[in-house]
Amino acid sequence: MKRILVSGGSGFLGSHLCEKLLKEGNEVLCVDNLFTGRKSNIHHLLSHKNFEFLRHDITHPLYAEVDEIYNLACPASPLHYQFDPIQTTKTSVMGAINMLGLAKRLKIKVLQASTSEVYGDPEINPQPESYKGCVNPIGIRACYDEGKRVAETLFFDYHRQHQVKIKVIRIFNTYGPRMQPNDGRVVSNFILQALKGEDLTIFGEGTQSRSFCYVDDLIDGMYRLMNSNEHLTGPVNIGNPNEMTMLELAEKIILMTGSRSKLRFLPLPQDDPLQRRPDISQAKRELDWEPKTHLDQGLEKTIQYFEKVLTKEVVLV
Ligand code: NAD
Ligand code: UDP
Repeated sequence: MKRILVSGGSGFLGSHLCEKLLKEGNEVLCVDNLFTGRKSNIHHLLSHKNFEFLRHDITHPLYAEVDEIYNLACPASPLHYQFDPIQTTKTSVMGAINMLGLAKRLKIKVLQASTSEVYGDPEINPQPESYKGCVNPIGIRACYDEGKRVAETLFFDYHRQHQVKIKVIRIFNTYGPRMQPNDGRVVSNFILQALKGEDLTIFGEGTQSRSFCYVDDLIDGMYRLMNSNEHLTGPVNIGNPNEMTMLELAEKIILMTGSRSKLRFLPLPQDDPLQRRPDISQAKRELDWEPKTHLDQGLEKTIQYFEKVLTKEVVLV
């Protein structure tokens, strides 16, 4: 049995990861400052004998005895990471230093949840890991994009300089139950708007594209990377190459919810990437991983979750 630290464990992805690690027979230490995470995401785990929650901000050092670290702590939606951009950069950079320092002292493996945002507004599509990206260093997304880029740099420098065992996953847009209803991400926004009969807010002309991966597939890929051959440091893209425009997504969600909602066009936010699609050849080759959940199946489960949120069957605290 391993004792595994998950930073950001009460967030959307973190809570699913904690569940997976417990199911695999591990002890989990969930570390979170509850900035965007929720107690209700992990409420069902609190009574599990192998689960422990610690309220802590990873920009401060942490002394714990663990066997592995997954570093997920960082607000992930544009609305939330732009709320306090300086804190966002601090979380990525100082959080990475603190988690890497802990891994160095304990001589353990540490995985960094990086992002497709390191590619910025990409000039090539799909994006392979070798693509160096096109990021505006002074724009409103930079606190997140550049913070995550520096975190990757730190991971590779700790690896080269101190032989810390690292794994870097580049996560592409992921959706599923426990997305925050108020975080402004497109899937949660569209589903909630459709269920409430409100107009769906399309930013720009809706021709920008994204590729959406269901949370279970993402967590499976992350777990496989952590447990892969020690020479595989990454970065490894994990995401679903099924690319679509925001207009197509809106139409699909309206159809699936049977909603009468219409579309409302709003200005495109600054530096909003025009296209995004992962090249997952490395994940297929090295991890024998590819997404299994069809978009319709994943959206169905996500719609059911948000229906429960609206009827208060799922109570968010
Ligand atoms: P989330 O906002 O739901 O979860 C982030 C968690 O980190 C929250 O529980 C929050 O309270 C916690 N946190 C934030 N700052 C912290 C700090 N200083 N100290 C301790 N805890 C802190 O977001 P998510 O979607 O679950 O994302 C998890 C990770 O995956 C993030 O690092 C994000 O950058 C990365 N990622 C997510 C996506 C996606 O589509 N969901 C895509 C790319 C990358
Ligand atoms: N978007 C939109 N309407 C919304 C929320 C988002 O059209 O109500 C667009 C947004 O401009 C972006 C895409 O959907 O082009 C994905 O946005 P999200 O915030 O989910 O993720 P990210 O931009 O980080 O990929």
